[in-house]
Amino acid sequence: MNKRELLKKAEPHYGEDDLLELEHAVDLAADAHKDQKRKSGEPYIIHPVAVASTLIDWGMDIDTILAGVLHDTVEDTDVTLETIAAQFGEDAAFLVDGVTKVSQARAGMQDLTEYLPQTKDNLSKLLIAVGQDVRVVIIKLADRLHNLQTLQHMPADKQTKIARESLEVFAPMADRLGMGRVRMQIEELAFSYLDPKEYKKLQNTIRKRLGKSTRKLASVRDEVDAALKNQKISYEINGRVKSIYSLYKKLQKVNGNIDDIYDLMALRIIVETKEDCYRVLGLLHGLYQPMINRIKDYIAIPKPNGYQSLHTTVITPAKQIVEFQIRTYEMHEYAERGLAASFHYHEQKGSKEYTRKKSSAVLPAHMQWMTQLQEIASRLRSGEDISSDQLNVDLFGDRIFVYSPKGDIYNLPEGALPLDFAYLVHSDIGKHAYGFRVNGSIHPFDKPLQNGDVVEVITRKTSTPRKAWIDQVTTTHARTKLRSQLRQLGMIESISNAASIIRQKAIRKKAQS
Ligand code: MN
Repeated sequence: MNKRELLKKAEPHYGEDDLLELEHAVDLAADAHKDQKRKSGEPYIIHPVAVASTLIDWGMDIDTILAGVLHDTVEDTDVTLETIAAQFGEDAAFLVDGVTKVSQARAGMQDLTEYLPQTKDNLSKLLIAVGQDVRVVIIKLADRLHNLQTLQHMPADKQTKIARESLEVFAPMADRLGMGRVRMQIEELAFSYLDPKEYKKLQNTIRKRLGKSTRKLASVRDEVDAALKNQKISYEINGRVKSIYSLYKKLQKVNGNIDDIYDLMALRIIVETKEDCYRVLGLLHGLYQPMINRIKDYIAIPKPNGYQSLHTTVITPAKQIVEFQIRTYEMHEYAERGLAASFHYHEQKGSKEYTRKKSSAVLPAHMQWMTQLQEIASRLRSGEDISSDQLNVDLFGDRIFVYSPKGDIYNLPEGALPLDFAYLVHSDIGKHAYGFRVNGSIHPFDKPLQNGDVVEVITRKTSTPRKAWIDQVTTTHARTKLRSQLRQLGMIESISNAASIIRQKAIRKKAQS
């Protein structure tokens, strides 16, 4: 893709002034990178242009597109942030700065390895925390995608390293942002480099099985078509094929037996309204026998990343097992594009609501973890003492939803205890927790909560936190609050030595960069 093609692609979506800025940004970046080449030998500018093009595909706002074009200039060329701010505005500069900081911080993190194990979790947290604005992460995802698409030009050891990091950090990140399509693209590319043999093998397996199942599914599809038409429901139906990497992961769960995988090919039904989703579900269950444990209502209880759909697996009279996914167009859009959908150029044109300071305010409720993380990041930056387990934000575990007796919904990691819930509601409620009632019955302190539990905390003014709780609670939030309460009560020592060493080192490193 060159400048002309990029502009042509952008034209329908942005205003005239925006397009002029975009053209100018490409010129500036092309000039700044003029002495650099990609590993393929091509001029470097093809990379930022490709990144910008992807961001247009994702429907991002103009500032993000500009920052995509300029994303490597501050780090790799003489272009300064001041120049970018003066010529393209504060927002674009802010985003470029975020992308640059993420790379620098990652380089800096290598030095912290002896204190802070360099796990995938730490890397991911860092990406988000330093980025400060979700759009920075979205630009990093577009950047990573293009680097994966051009990975064949890299030496083998680098290919492996980048592919592994993509699977461990970037794909889960896309998933956390609800960007299902990007997650899948990253996974497929990365996996094809990490295990090319297995990739090819599974690709063949899918191809072979697909031929068979498509033919078998055709009659099911006809039946469903007729039933939906009969009910006057307007819908779209199509087959969705499982991705190679998700098949690989699933096969490991079922000990490699592909016959245990029912959703190699699923039928997806997209309708107008939520009510229609349930009508379709009822209709399918009238036609075929559902498998009892495989009915999932992600509409009433969305996945933690915001994904919504109804899933059901049925057995046809011909003993065929078929999975259906039912969702509205809106849910489908979110499942594919996730958080990126909320920056959409059509909706956001002229609106500055999503910019910097307010960016966390517009995050949907299920994205609260990101706000938590950004809080920790800004406290770190202001030099506050943060212990290493506070950094251990609950980012990658599976989540459950529980309710207060009033019906407020709370999002906790799987395995969370009632105390974690109490501290999430309010630190004073945690502090004075005396007992718990879950779904109406008394519930022990050390028994984990389940998805959908209604949790009531029984408090007593005279009751104070116990030291042993520190080893019990599972969330960072609860542990942090609890620790400071215990410290205030004189029940534990202040900040551990190890934690302050980590911080010192981090600050020194930052001063150097
Ligand atoms: Mn780049």
